[in-house]
Order: sequence, then C-alpha cells, then structure tokens
Amino acid sequence: MVTTHNLGFPRIGAGRELKWALERYWRGESSPQQLLQQCRRLRQQHWRQQQQRGQDLVTVGDFSLYDHVLDTSVMFGVIPERYRCGNQADLDDYFRMARGRAPAGEDVTACEMTKWFDTNYHYIVPEFSPTQSFSLYAHRLIQEIEEAGALGYRVKPVVLGPLSYLWLGKCQARQFDKLALLPELTACYVELLQQMASSGVSWVQIDEPVLVLDLPAPWRRAFETCYRQLTVPGLNRLLASYFGALEDNLHLVLELPVEGLHIDAVSAPAQLQMAADQLPGYKVLSVGVIDGRNVWAADLHRVWQQLRPVYRQLGERLWIAPSCSLLHCPVDLEAEQRLDPEIKPWLSFALQKLDELQVLRSLLEDRDTAAVEAAYSTLRHNQRIVAARRGSDRTCDPAVRARMESLTAEMAQRRSPYTQRRKIQQQRLNLPVLPTTTIGSFPQTAEIRQARRRYRDGELEPAQYEKLIRQQIEQTVEKQLALGLDVLVHGEAERNDMVEYFGELLQGFAITDNGWVQSYGSRCVKPPIIYGDVARVEPMTVPWISYAQSLTDKPVKGMLTGPVTMLQWSFVRDDQPLETTCRQIALALRDEVNDLESAGIGIIQIDEAALREGLPLRRTQWDSYLRWAVESFRLCAGGVEDRTQIHTHMCYSEFNDIIDWIARLDADVITIETSRSQMELLEAFREYAYPNDIGPGTFDIHSPRIPTQQEIVGLLKAGARYIPVERLWVNPDCGLKTRTWPEAEAALRNMVDAARRLRAEMAAV
Ligand code: GLN
Ligand code: ZN
Repeated sequence: MVTTHNLGFPRIGAGRELKWALERYWRGESSPQQLLQQCRRLRQQHWRQQQQRGQDLVTVGDFSLYDHVLDTSVMFGVIPERYRCGNQADLDDYFRMARGRAPAGEDVTACEMTKWFDTNYHYIVPEFSPTQSFSLYAHRLIQEIEEAGALGYRVKPVVLGPLSYLWLGKCQARQFDKLALLPELTACYVELLQQMASSGVSWVQIDEPVLVLDLPAPWRRAFETCYRQLTVPGLNRLLASYFGALEDNLHLVLELPVEGLHIDAVSAPAQLQMAADQLPGYKVLSVGVIDGRNVWAADLHRVWQQLRPVYRQLGERLWIAPSCSLLHCPVDLEAEQRLDPEIKPWLSFALQKLDELQVLRSLLEDRDTAAVEAAYSTLRHNQRIVAARRGSDRTCDPAVRARMESLTAEMAQRRSPYTQRRKIQQQRLNLPVLPTTTIGSFPQTAEIRQARRRYRDGELEPAQYEKLIRQQIEQTVEKQLALGLDVLVHGEAERNDMVEYFGELLQGFAITDNGWVQSYGSRCVKPPIIYGDVARVEPMTVPWISYAQSLTDKPVKGMLTGPVTMLQWSFVRDDQPLETTCRQIALALRDEVNDLESAGIGIIQIDEAALREGLPLRRTQWDSYLRWAVESFRLCAGGVEDRTQIHTHMCYSEFNDIIDWIARLDADVITIETSRSQMELLEAFREYAYPNDIGPGTFDIHSPRIPTQQEIVGLLKAGARYIPVERLWVNPDCGLKTRTWPEAEAALRNMVDAARRLRAEMAAV
C-alpha cells in the first residue's frame, strides 16, 4: 500500500472565496463570525476534495486567514510590542500585524513582508526581540484538527518547523544570534505536539524548507539537538523539505530521529535514489513527484518508472505527494473555459495533481483490478497527451529556433561604451541636471478598469476602446506637462498587469480565466502560462507610446517589462532550459525596443522587477543564473543606436551581493527603491563606483502620505553624498498605479519643486 498525501492545498478557493470574504470583513461589511464561518466552509470543502480524490491523509493547518508564517508567530505569542496586545493576538490584532489596519484597533505599522524562498508568495516576517519569550496558543490549530477529525478524516496537521521559523524571522538587535531562542521555542513545539497527540493525531508534517539552503554549521547542528527533543510518544513526525536539493543536508536529515522524510524529487530528482538507498529501516520516505509549483500535467509513465525501483525497495514505507504545497498553483483546471483546446489537456492544477497521485498509486500497487485497469487507461491517455505536447508545432516555431541559432555576442552589446553614449544622449535629449521622471504607471482609475473590462467582454468595439485609452493618455500627458516633469510616460492605462499585458500579446503564452495564485493576504496573481516558443506577433506598445509622444516635444519614455520578469512571473514550460525561454522572450522584446526607436522614441525603459528574486536558493548557482539573466536583458536592449537611452527599473535596491551584475546590465539609467532607507542603500553603488546614471526613489509610492518638498530635498542631498549629482535622476520608488490622482499630483509637484530648488542652489554656487 502506497500512502498518498499533499503538503498543503491552495487556501484562496477556486473562486477566490477567501479574498472576497476577507475584503468584505476589512471593509466592515461582515462580522468576525461571518468571516470565520466562510473560512470554515472553505476549509471543509478543501478537505472533502482531498478525500474524494483519494488522499489517505487530509492536511490540516495549511489554511490561513492571511499567511501561515504569521499564524506561527501568533501561535507562539511572537507579537511586537507596538500592537499592544501582550502575547495574545485577537482577530483584528492579527490583521493589524499583517496590514497595519483592521476594523477594530488603531492603525499601526504592519510587519514586514518578504518572498517565501524563490516563489512569488509573500510571508509576514516574524520579529524577535533579544529577550523574546514564547508561549503556546494553539487553540485555533487544535480546533481545526478536531473539526476535521469529527468529520471522519484521517488528519495530518502541518506546522512550520522551529528552525525554519527562526531562520525566516528578523531581530532588531543586529548581532543577535537567533539560535539562542531555540531551546524555549523547542519546548513550545513539544507542548504543541503533545496537544496534537491528545487530539488523536498519528502523523504530523513539520516543514523545514531551510534545509535546501546553504546552512551555517551551527544551524545544522541545531537540527540534531532540536529534533532529539521534539518527540512525543505515539506521534510520528514527517520532516518535509522542498524547493530544491538537500545536498550536504541529506545525510543530516537521514540521521535525524524522525519517523518520516519528505523530499522534492521534481526540482532535485537525483536525490531520490540516494535517499531511498540510505533510508534507515524505521523511516518512511515521502517522495514529491508531482510538480507543486507548475501547471503541467505529469508524464505519468516517466514518474511511474522513476518510482518503481523505490517501491520495490521500500514497499509500504513509500509515500507519494506533490513536490511542495499546492499553494503555489491554481485550484481547478476544469474551471477554465477559454483555454485553447489543444493546450488545456497539457495542464494540471491542484485538483488534477491529486488525481495524478491516485493513478500512480494504482500503477505501483498493481492490486485492485478495477483500479489498475482504470489507471492503465488513464496512463495511455496521458502518454498520448505527453506525446502530443512534445510533437506539437504550437511549442516549436522554426523561425524562432533559427533566430536563436544565429545569435551573436554583438547583439548583446551596445555600439559604444556608456561614456560615449552619454554625450550623444545628452545632446539629443537636452535634459537639465537632476532630470525628473516617473516609473511608468499613473493611477488606474475605476474608469480605466471599467473600459478594459468592457472591451474584454466585447461590450466595447476596438475603436471605442482605443479612443478611451487615447483620452487617458492625453490627460496623463497634460498633467505631467503641468507638473513640469522632464521625461514623460504614457501612463500604462492599457495594462491590467505588467506581465499579463505582454503575455496576452506574445506568441507562446496562454492566459487563464481563473488561474489565480495567492501572492499575499487577499492579493492574488494570475500568471500567464508559457507553453511554446515566444515571438512577437505585432507591435505591442508602439501605437500608445507614439501617440503620447505626438502630444508633446518633451521626451516620452517607452515602457516594457523585461525578459527576466516576464519569465519569473509566469508559469514556465518545463521542456527546455529556463535560459532558452528567457532568450526567446528577450528577442521578442528586442523587436519592440527597436520599433520604438524607429518610431522616434528616444528613451526606453525595460523593467526588471524580478531580476533579483530569481536568484537560485544556493549560492553556487547564482553566477550561472545571473549570466543568462543579464545577457537576456542586454539582448533585449542591445539593438539600439547610441542616441537611444535605455532605462531599467527595479523595485528594491539591496544590491550588495550582485552589484557587479547590475553594472553589467549596462543600462544608461537605473531607477530603484531607496526612500525608505534614507538612501543608505546607495552605499553599494558608491562602493562599487557604479558608473552609469541612477534614479534613487525619492518617495514611497506604497503609502498615501504626501512627501514634503523639504523631505525630498533632504533625500536628494543624501543621495548626492553617494552618487555625483550629474548622474542623479529624480523619481518615485515605483509606479503610481495604486495611488489616486490627487495623491500622485501632490507628491510629484513637491518632487519637481525639490529638483528645481536644488538646481537653483547649485547654480548659485
Ligand atoms: N512600469 C511599471 C509601473 O510603473 C513598473 C512596476 C514595477 O516595477 N513593479 O507600474
Ligand atoms: Zn517598481
């Protein structure tokens, strides 16, 4: 008998039920009871779906009102002082920690949020104090366990493990060693496991994803001490790692005194046989064989063959599961109505992945005749689909392949070095010192969103829609002229999202109707699916940008999403290396860059918001990633003349460890986020003697607060201590699409005035 289970199920709901329930509650339109009732219904539905699809264990504890790391903090009483609720948070305290605001209680600075490993999910960063104490408040989790037990499910609770939890947190005191907190935290975990055992649980899943990182030796040793203590009679522990290979930690986890291990055999297939060979006889091995982070139907025959020898070796000690929690994948493929019928069968979302596990189980066990019969038939169907996908001319475009073959090094090289280009560009653009600009988007008003929706639903003719967007562009240009900005933008009114917009227009991308994945809290994204060779069908931005440029003599900056960001924020094809797909996107965008230049656009910005987050989890793999990522950007930008100024934008500026690669992008101007750190983050650029122009953000666009002129002057003066003023630009931290027009205008007015004041001061000396 092979046990099937999953590490976690998407909590947001197939119809984003959780999102709507949360937002209603936040707006004060529903009571806490109503919210919790809706969540209970959603949870129960997810358990039912798991059981109906044959899962032997039903996962409990993966549901969260906002984020599971925040849940862990609340469970252990880790609540920063500013929330003034002691170490016990109620529902509204919880939301204030998550987002600074709740129906009850005063607004307060929210906890920091950051990316969960190399996914696009964000978790709430735990805040520890050096004198942190822990106490257990597990009633919510225990209640859910009992609720599922009462419904007759075999419950497997999941918790984030103590070492990963500590690792992910931060401590104000700089030199503080978080491991000092481990003994007390471990004691709380022991108590938690005891409570689980009393509730009749026989297996608990303890997630320790930090095991796939480069761990310092003290942390590796801490695993041994911690897990020796973390035992409760009668309770079996499944220690789960995912998102990569255990590498040097494999031996460590094999030796840990736990009853089971889960390993990711999708991102790291090579570790499967090693783990199976060395597995102590008392341990279970849960093998993640279905990709929990991507949307492709599994090649069942291949996976079956991969598992057969392991099953012969381990017998009942083999469990199978998706590689990681299904949190990172959409819920139900069946809900897709508009996907291309040729492509749809190639895909598999969370529910379909659970079905795949059942087929694999039947094939491996080869027992119950009816089930085996059915499994073989599914297998044959699956083989036809896998073959169809492999042979489809939708995935392979000979013209793209030929172009990829003919790539040359010069294509990724601007004609002259930056210093030379700079002179030519200055002559052409004739900008003042400290030129002012924005990052691209302007407020996305209800009017704009409505126009896009009506156009998509066929209620607006293309010509009507075009007219509406043109009007938006006119207004945006007018307002920028009135503000006195030096480099204008068209405002991005036509874009629902910076990736989806291009995904809809490029060959090789498919767009789903409901393929939502939680990004943070109630926020979801709908990543496009890259299924085939990417090419540009026709110009994507040229008409809009040219129209904006036709309205003014000031330069209008063209605006594109870069190849690495397109790749990182999409579901990518798994049948060729990432770098190949990235280069194809780069070539498609290069055509757009060149066309913008031919249309007379003098400045083109290529956003790479996701360049840094694409860094592999292991340092040894950084260079190879950065090499192709940077090369893709350069390929995209390398076709233009010296007189065309290339900008790039990144929503962060912690560049210390990759500054060399940032310089190699060779963008004429880079705009980054720095206002929140008082420009301190520019230190990396100064130290490196970064050669090109920089626009450090002068105000935080995430906040509705209007920065004063003095503040911005102060920040720019601080910036000038790091970067020579001749190479400084003046701009916000990021795009203004989430702001209102009055906020955007007020902030930009102060920004433009600040630049003018500084210019005047400089002229006076
Ligand atoms: N050009 C985009 C905008 O202004 C950039 C967004 C981003 O960096 N996330 O919205
Ligand atoms: Zn940004």
